[in-house]
Amino acid sequence: MRRREFCSVTLLGGALALPRLGSSAEAATGDIAAIRLSGAATTIGSKELVEFTRGFRGAVILPASGEYEQARRVWNPMHDRRPAVIARCADANDVSRAVKFARQHDLLVAVRGGGHSFPGYSTCDGGLMIDLSAMREVRVDAARRTALVAPGAWVSDVDTATGKLGLATTMGQISDTGVAGLTLGGGYGWLSRRLGLACDNLLSADVVTADGQLRHVSASEHPDLFWAIRGGGGNFGVATSFEYRLHEQSPRVYAAYIAYPFAHLREILELFQETTARGPRELSLDLSIEAADDGAPLVAVYGCHSGDPGQGPALLAPFERIAKPYQSVHGPDTYERVQHQSDGPHLSKSFHYLKAGLVAEFTPGLVEALRAFAPSREVFVYMQNASGAVSDVSPTATAYWNRKAMVNLMVMGTWRNAADTERIRAAIRATWEKIEPFSLGFYSNLSDADPSRTGRNFGDNYARLTDLKRKYDPGNRFRLNSNIPPRGA
Ligand SMILES: Cc1cc2nc3c(=O)[nH]c(=O)nc-3n(C[C@H](O)[C@H](O)[C@H](O)COP(=O)(O)OP(=O)(O)OC[C@H]3O[C@@H](n4cnc5c(N)ncnc54)[C@H](O)[C@@H]3O)c2cc1C
Repeated sequence: MRRREFCSVTLLGGALALPRLGSSAEAATGDIAAIRLSGAATTIGSKELVEFTRGFRGAVILPASGEYEQARRVWNPMHDRRPAVIARCADANDVSRAVKFARQHDLLVAVRGGGHSFPGYSTCDGGLMIDLSAMREVRVDAARRTALVAPGAWVSDVDTATGKLGLATTMGQISDTGVAGLTLGGGYGWLSRRLGLACDNLLSADVVTADGQLRHVSASEHPDLFWAIRGGGGNFGVATSFEYRLHEQSPRVYAAYIAYPFAHLREILELFQETTARGPRELSLDLSIEAADDGAPLVAVYGCHSGDPGQGPALLAPFERIAKPYQSVHGPDTYERVQHQSDGPHLSKSFHYLKAGLVAEFTPGLVEALRAFAPSREVFVYMQNASGAVSDVSPTATAYWNRKAMVNLMVMGTWRNAADTERIRAAIRATWEKIEPFSLGFYSNLSDADPSRTGRNFGDNYARLTDLKRKYDPGNRFRLNSNIPPRGA
């Protein structure tokens, strides 16, 4: 096995000095109240905490620490949780120690990569948060066209390091999304139509399994575990590094935003479907149903052509002809800027909720359901392209099953006032009830679905996944995810 540990704790090229808990005043705060895997209360003694931190290269952050309030935050403030202990790891050895510590105290575990989980799976109340946010290094091997990526890296870390060399791989569309959660659960983006999912470009990974062992996984080493982590999410262990295949990517692309009055929804859906079926794979289009600043409902096409930018105008001409746009902005741009165009602040201050599912076609029933939807400033529909090279891979070749979709359709809400939460969630659920019958199942990276429905989402892969879960995590320690229970549990 090739040894390739990330042992630095580098933040965007700058060294981060990590404070430690040792025999410090923090340790003297005494025992810490915590929650076991079963949900029962427990305590962790201060001596055991001190023992845990001995040899730990990162930081162990406790509720009494000044850093704790910031460290416990995740992207979606809907999930305002308080882990008993935050183990901010500096390397794979720290991760292994943290997993063993969780076993020793039978703790509930949350694993935090980029912290972008909509349903808040990367935090918990009373458990151990294994925090990978200090591990963001990206090493590109231009000759081999590979990138070795640490598990706390953001999409922008990978894009920046690879883009400098005219290379890229599929990453998500928001720059501060964690590559770890994104890749383990699949990974759609502007390049997935051409290059497949992020997990389809994974060549190998290092994973700390529930027994605390670090395993290198690839097509030839622990191939069953390598199969499972490509779509099975964080169910099988904590990934401590990812090796991706890279592809040539010109920094210049062609980007588009064309919005139409809502009355044109039907024609736009038809043209979108036709372009998705027959257009070049370099052209990736998303759709949204959103409200303009004055509240007027719009249907909008977002696009990125990652091939020759000179072809952009001709490819988008049908969208100019089909109806008079409300707004049309398209032209050459940089891939880097496109990857930042939808960013909000890191660690959002707004609340977020969504229901989502994969959709294969705009059937008449679905078109009617979408026509009945009234977007507002807070609630909109976004459809991310899920077609093209994603479907070249057999559904059983990796754990990622749902490969026949055209779009990932999301009904999303974003709001500021906590008092609006129940009203907006109810509106999203009511809209989703009408759309869900037309979906193929959910994209596990976006789901807060009832666990009893997770099986359907993994299709014929589910039985094998439950077997592998029993092999690698028989106690279901890694359960804060789109959870696959061990067979027989
Ligand atoms: C604003 C926004 C934009 C998004 N855009 C896209 C997009 O363009 N394409 C797309 O496909 N998805 C997108 N997503 C969904 C995204 O893929 C998931 O939210 C993904 O889980 C984020 O990964 P993370 O590491 O940031 O998440 P986290 O919240 O840190 O973790 C999410 C899940 O992964 C597990 N996990 C994280 N790191 C590890 C690890 N190293 N080992 C094992 N398990 C781990 C966690 O335990 C948790 O279950 C978006 C989400 C948001 C909020």
